[in-house]
Amino acid sequence: MAARVLVVDDILPNVKLLEAKLKAEFYDVLTATSGQDALDMLEKVIPDIVLLDVMMPGMDGFEVCQRIKENPKTAHVPVVMVTALTDTTDRVRGLQSGADDFLSKPLNDIALLARVRSLVRLKMTVDEWRARESTASQLGMTEEDQSVMTQPVEGANILVIEDQSFESDKFVDTLQVDNDNVTVVTSGAEAMKLITEKDFDLMAVSLNLKNEDGLRLSSYIRSTERTRSVPILMIGTDDDMQRIAHGLEIGAHDYILRPVDRNELLARVRTQIRRKRFQEKLRATYEISLSLALVDSLTGLYNRRYFETHLQKLLAKSKEDGKKFGLLIMDIDRFKDINDTHGHTVGDEILKIYGERLQYNIRGFDMVARFGGEEFVVLLPDVSQETAYHVGERLRRAISDTPFVCNVADGQLTVTASIGGAIIEPGDYSVAEVLDRADKALYEAKESGRNATFFEHVGRIDPEKYKEEERKVV
Ligand code: GH3
Ligand code: MG
Ligand code: MG
Repeated sequence: MAARVLVVDDILPNVKLLEAKLKAEFYDVLTATSGQDALDMLEKVIPDIVLLDVMMPGMDGFEVCQRIKENPKTAHVPVVMVTALTDTTDRVRGLQSGADDFLSKPLNDIALLARVRSLVRLKMTVDEWRARESTASQLGMTEEDQSVMTQPVEGANILVIEDQSFESDKFVDTLQVDNDNVTVVTSGAEAMKLITEKDFDLMAVSLNLKNEDGLRLSSYIRSTERTRSVPILMIGTDDDMQRIAHGLEIGAHDYILRPVDRNELLARVRTQIRRKRFQEKLRATYEISLSLALVDSLTGLYNRRYFETHLQKLLAKSKEDGKKFGLLIMDIDRFKDINDTHGHTVGDEILKIYGERLQYNIRGFDMVARFGGEEFVVLLPDVSQETAYHVGERLRRAISDTPFVCNVADGQLTVTASIGGAIIEPGDYSVAEVLDRADKALYEAKESGRNATFFEHVGRIDPEKYKEEERKVV
């Protein structure tokens, strides 16, 4: 699908001109002729980028931009300010109101299209993470509202590759305001060495190095695993426009023209740092949500959701390769009494130790999960009946034979559990069916007086017969 651009300008010919240029590049173009008009439109459609005129009667571009960035629904949409003003204070004001970039009229076509392309690409990446994050939120793993503009800008590690010291000095001085850690090198070789040793939040690369090509260096940074996602800020002159466009094409994030203006520099660096930190946060949130969605937070064991998916796969695999597997359901005996007598916190302590003991007493490719409450399940792939009985008894003893050290008056508690097991032969069974079979055996174990292992079809597993010399407990 073509990317959608919203063009906002109060002068109709300007709108038409931009519209024509963008349509020629196959963009979908929406237009608005006032700030309010643009905001109304954004209520209905979210574009992939906004090209925004600064000087408009009524609400000016700065204000429109600020409103777009304040609205959580549109904050992630890149905004490029388009203006006849070349005054850097206006540029800075634009960047401070959250604009992602600034273009001067008359518009340079190369710069325009390069910017639009690179910002749309960036938005696609952020959108992808936002989508995953929102799936994770739907699973119940909510996070506080995050936006690009609220990310901290201080204390970034910045690498400047520049051999003109009067320019690199500006980086060092200017970025002190944010307590950034600025390292200056004058050659690509030095830079390449440094990036293997240290992580950077931004790299500024001169396109006018005496002895080498900054573009090539940028391309190297982009293609190196370790630095792939580090924003690149190119430093060039008006004459470099073509190369700058190429740089944006290969993935550099932004550029600044010489002589470097300090305020503009600060604003551009901040924008990139915020964006990087925002993306990192989205990614981290997503990864945490994923693990939260699969792992039980109290015991660190897999949860029911994960277990059921896994069991489903094991059933399919067993049918395919003709191997049977063992399924155990374990339930702590009279756990309610433990809670009632010693409190819920002690109950939690018991659950934690219980989980550790189970985990410790199975093989690496077996799996234990917390099914819910004080019910745990164990999968024993490719196992003989005899071994399954042995494992069942071993787990039962790992619980009953060694008291649990916990926060009670005696310093420890004796806990027992009942176990129901089933050997699942290859076949067409559902997850619910096989769980039900093991559950019935568990019910028999409880009925028999608890602290026992029962298997489907065979009843109680004789503790004497399945005694093992070595016993493992944690
Ligand atoms: P039985 O021997 O028949 O299994 O008796 P029981 O008391 O263990 O069985 P029941 O299912 O009635 O009680 C289970 C208790 O486990 C009730 C519930 O409050 C407690 N429980 C469930 N989840 C947790 C938890 O995460 N922490 C704590 N402390 N208790 C929990
Ligand atoms: Mg119980
Ligand atoms: Mg129970």
